[in-house]
Amino acid sequence: MKKKHIDVWEKCLKVISDNIPMQAYKTWFEPIRPIKLENDILTIQVPSQFFYEWLEEHYIGLLKKTIKKELGINGRLEYSIIIDSAFKDAKPYSVNYPTSDRRATKNKPMNMPIDINKGKSRDIPNPFIIPGLKKIKVESQLVEAYSFDNFIEGDCNRLARSAGWAIAENPGKTAFNPLLIYSAVGLGKTHLAHAIGLQVKSNFPDKTVLFVKTEQFINQYIDSVRNNNQNDFVHFYQMIDTLIMDDVQFIAGKDKTQDVFFHIFNHLHQNNKQIVLTSDKPPVELKGMEPRLLSRFKWGLAADLQVPDLETRIAILQNKLYKDGIDMPYDVIEYLAYSITTNIREMEGALVSILAQSTLNKKTIDLELAKRMIDKFVKNTTREISIDYIQKVVCDYFDMPIEAINSKTRKREIVQARQLAMFFSKKHTKNSLATIGLHCGNKDHATVLHACRTVNNLVETDKQFRVYVEEINKKLKI
Ligand code: ADP
Ligand code: MG
Repeated sequence: MKKKHIDVWEKCLKVISDNIPMQAYKTWFEPIRPIKLENDILTIQVPSQFFYEWLEEHYIGLLKKTIKKELGINGRLEYSIIIDSAFKDAKPYSVNYPTSDRRATKNKPMNMPIDINKGKSRDIPNPFIIPGLKKIKVESQLVEAYSFDNFIEGDCNRLARSAGWAIAENPGKTAFNPLLIYSAVGLGKTHLAHAIGLQVKSNFPDKTVLFVKTEQFINQYIDSVRNNNQNDFVHFYQMIDTLIMDDVQFIAGKDKTQDVFFHIFNHLHQNNKQIVLTSDKPPVELKGMEPRLLSRFKWGLAADLQVPDLETRIAILQNKLYKDGIDMPYDVIEYLAYSITTNIREMEGALVSILAQSTLNKKTIDLELAKRMIDKFVKNTTREISIDYIQKVVCDYFDMPIEAINSKTRKREIVQARQLAMFFSKKHTKNSLATIGLHCGNKDHATVLHACRTVNNLVETDKQFRVYVEEINKKLKI
């Protein structure tokens, strides 16, 4: 029998999904986990403080109605908030919030990332700002092309993107201050950081927005020490309304710079100015960072960007081509997106080199050219083939849609294609059995193991099947 809380929450979700757009439902409700149901109080776990605030701000009416419908007039909802998932080392602990009493502070543990902006005067006189300095026009250093319009949304970036958008609507006045965007290289941190800045500028033309690379910041500080005008340096940064610091991990181990940044940070934060940071690691993994500065980073929201899925990668390429007014056959785009999976910058690089090749040699762009270029581009020839790509090759071979593999169907041909995809994924990728299973129809590792054995057996015993395997294998090697 299904647990009661799960059952109740599923019913609530049904109502909710009927009432809000699919996208919003996916973003804000799918990540929620029901925890328990006691005395008509349903506790749901949300991934972060940001989530909680968003739900309370945008969906409280709907939630209340739904809870009432499912649990009756005494029904109540409590939130259990995972203190940001970026801080995995910190004991993940949760706290319950009654919906009706959200402003009560007595239950808030000290290290909850509370919204310290609320209730503060906005007009704290600022003795530091040199009169007249405000008039200096600050060039924002923003790159127009890195706009929200050009930043394709996908599951991989939804939280960070939504937070960025919310900030741009209301800089300095949301709970996500600072916003720390983190990810591996080439996944869009810098792009998103610029997009936030551009959007703030567009919504609030009078605000002073500044985008600065952390190396630049460090060098400017060193110069200011050399020229003995550190005060000017600090004052300049303290008058910014939205400060965006890219690659903040570079400040690690630089104690003096951290010290000065700490003061700038405090000043901006106290005055409800927005701070956006990017980093190649989550805060918990930032070594060589002063604890007091690190603790500041945790005041707001840390949101990561993940590797985009195939559909998003294709959309990113299409958007880029469209923007540049270039036509390219769809199979080439698809091939690119299949082949380069973990770094968008590299994928774009490969695109550029294909374009360059075709222009230089006056060759039309076709799959042939793309394959040759990509092989060269991905320097090491034993490049990792992705599970996505394997699925595509297997499905193309049997002329079936790729969705079939991920469907629940137990039709013989499809089961066989799925098993082959699993077999080749095991053979050609470094993914674990569990990961392979997850991507091939949401199966567990035992199923993958079974698939590999079945394929091996069939290769031994079934001539026709052996031909399939050999031919697919050849296609995978290109
Ligand atoms: P990072 O700062 O994380 O290393 P960048 O922001 O420099 O990554 O992104 C690398 C490239 O990928 C840029 O050209 C950027 O425009 C592009 N890119 C990344 N994410 C997206 C996205 N969601 N939509 C469109 N382009 C993207
Ligand atoms: Mg970057």
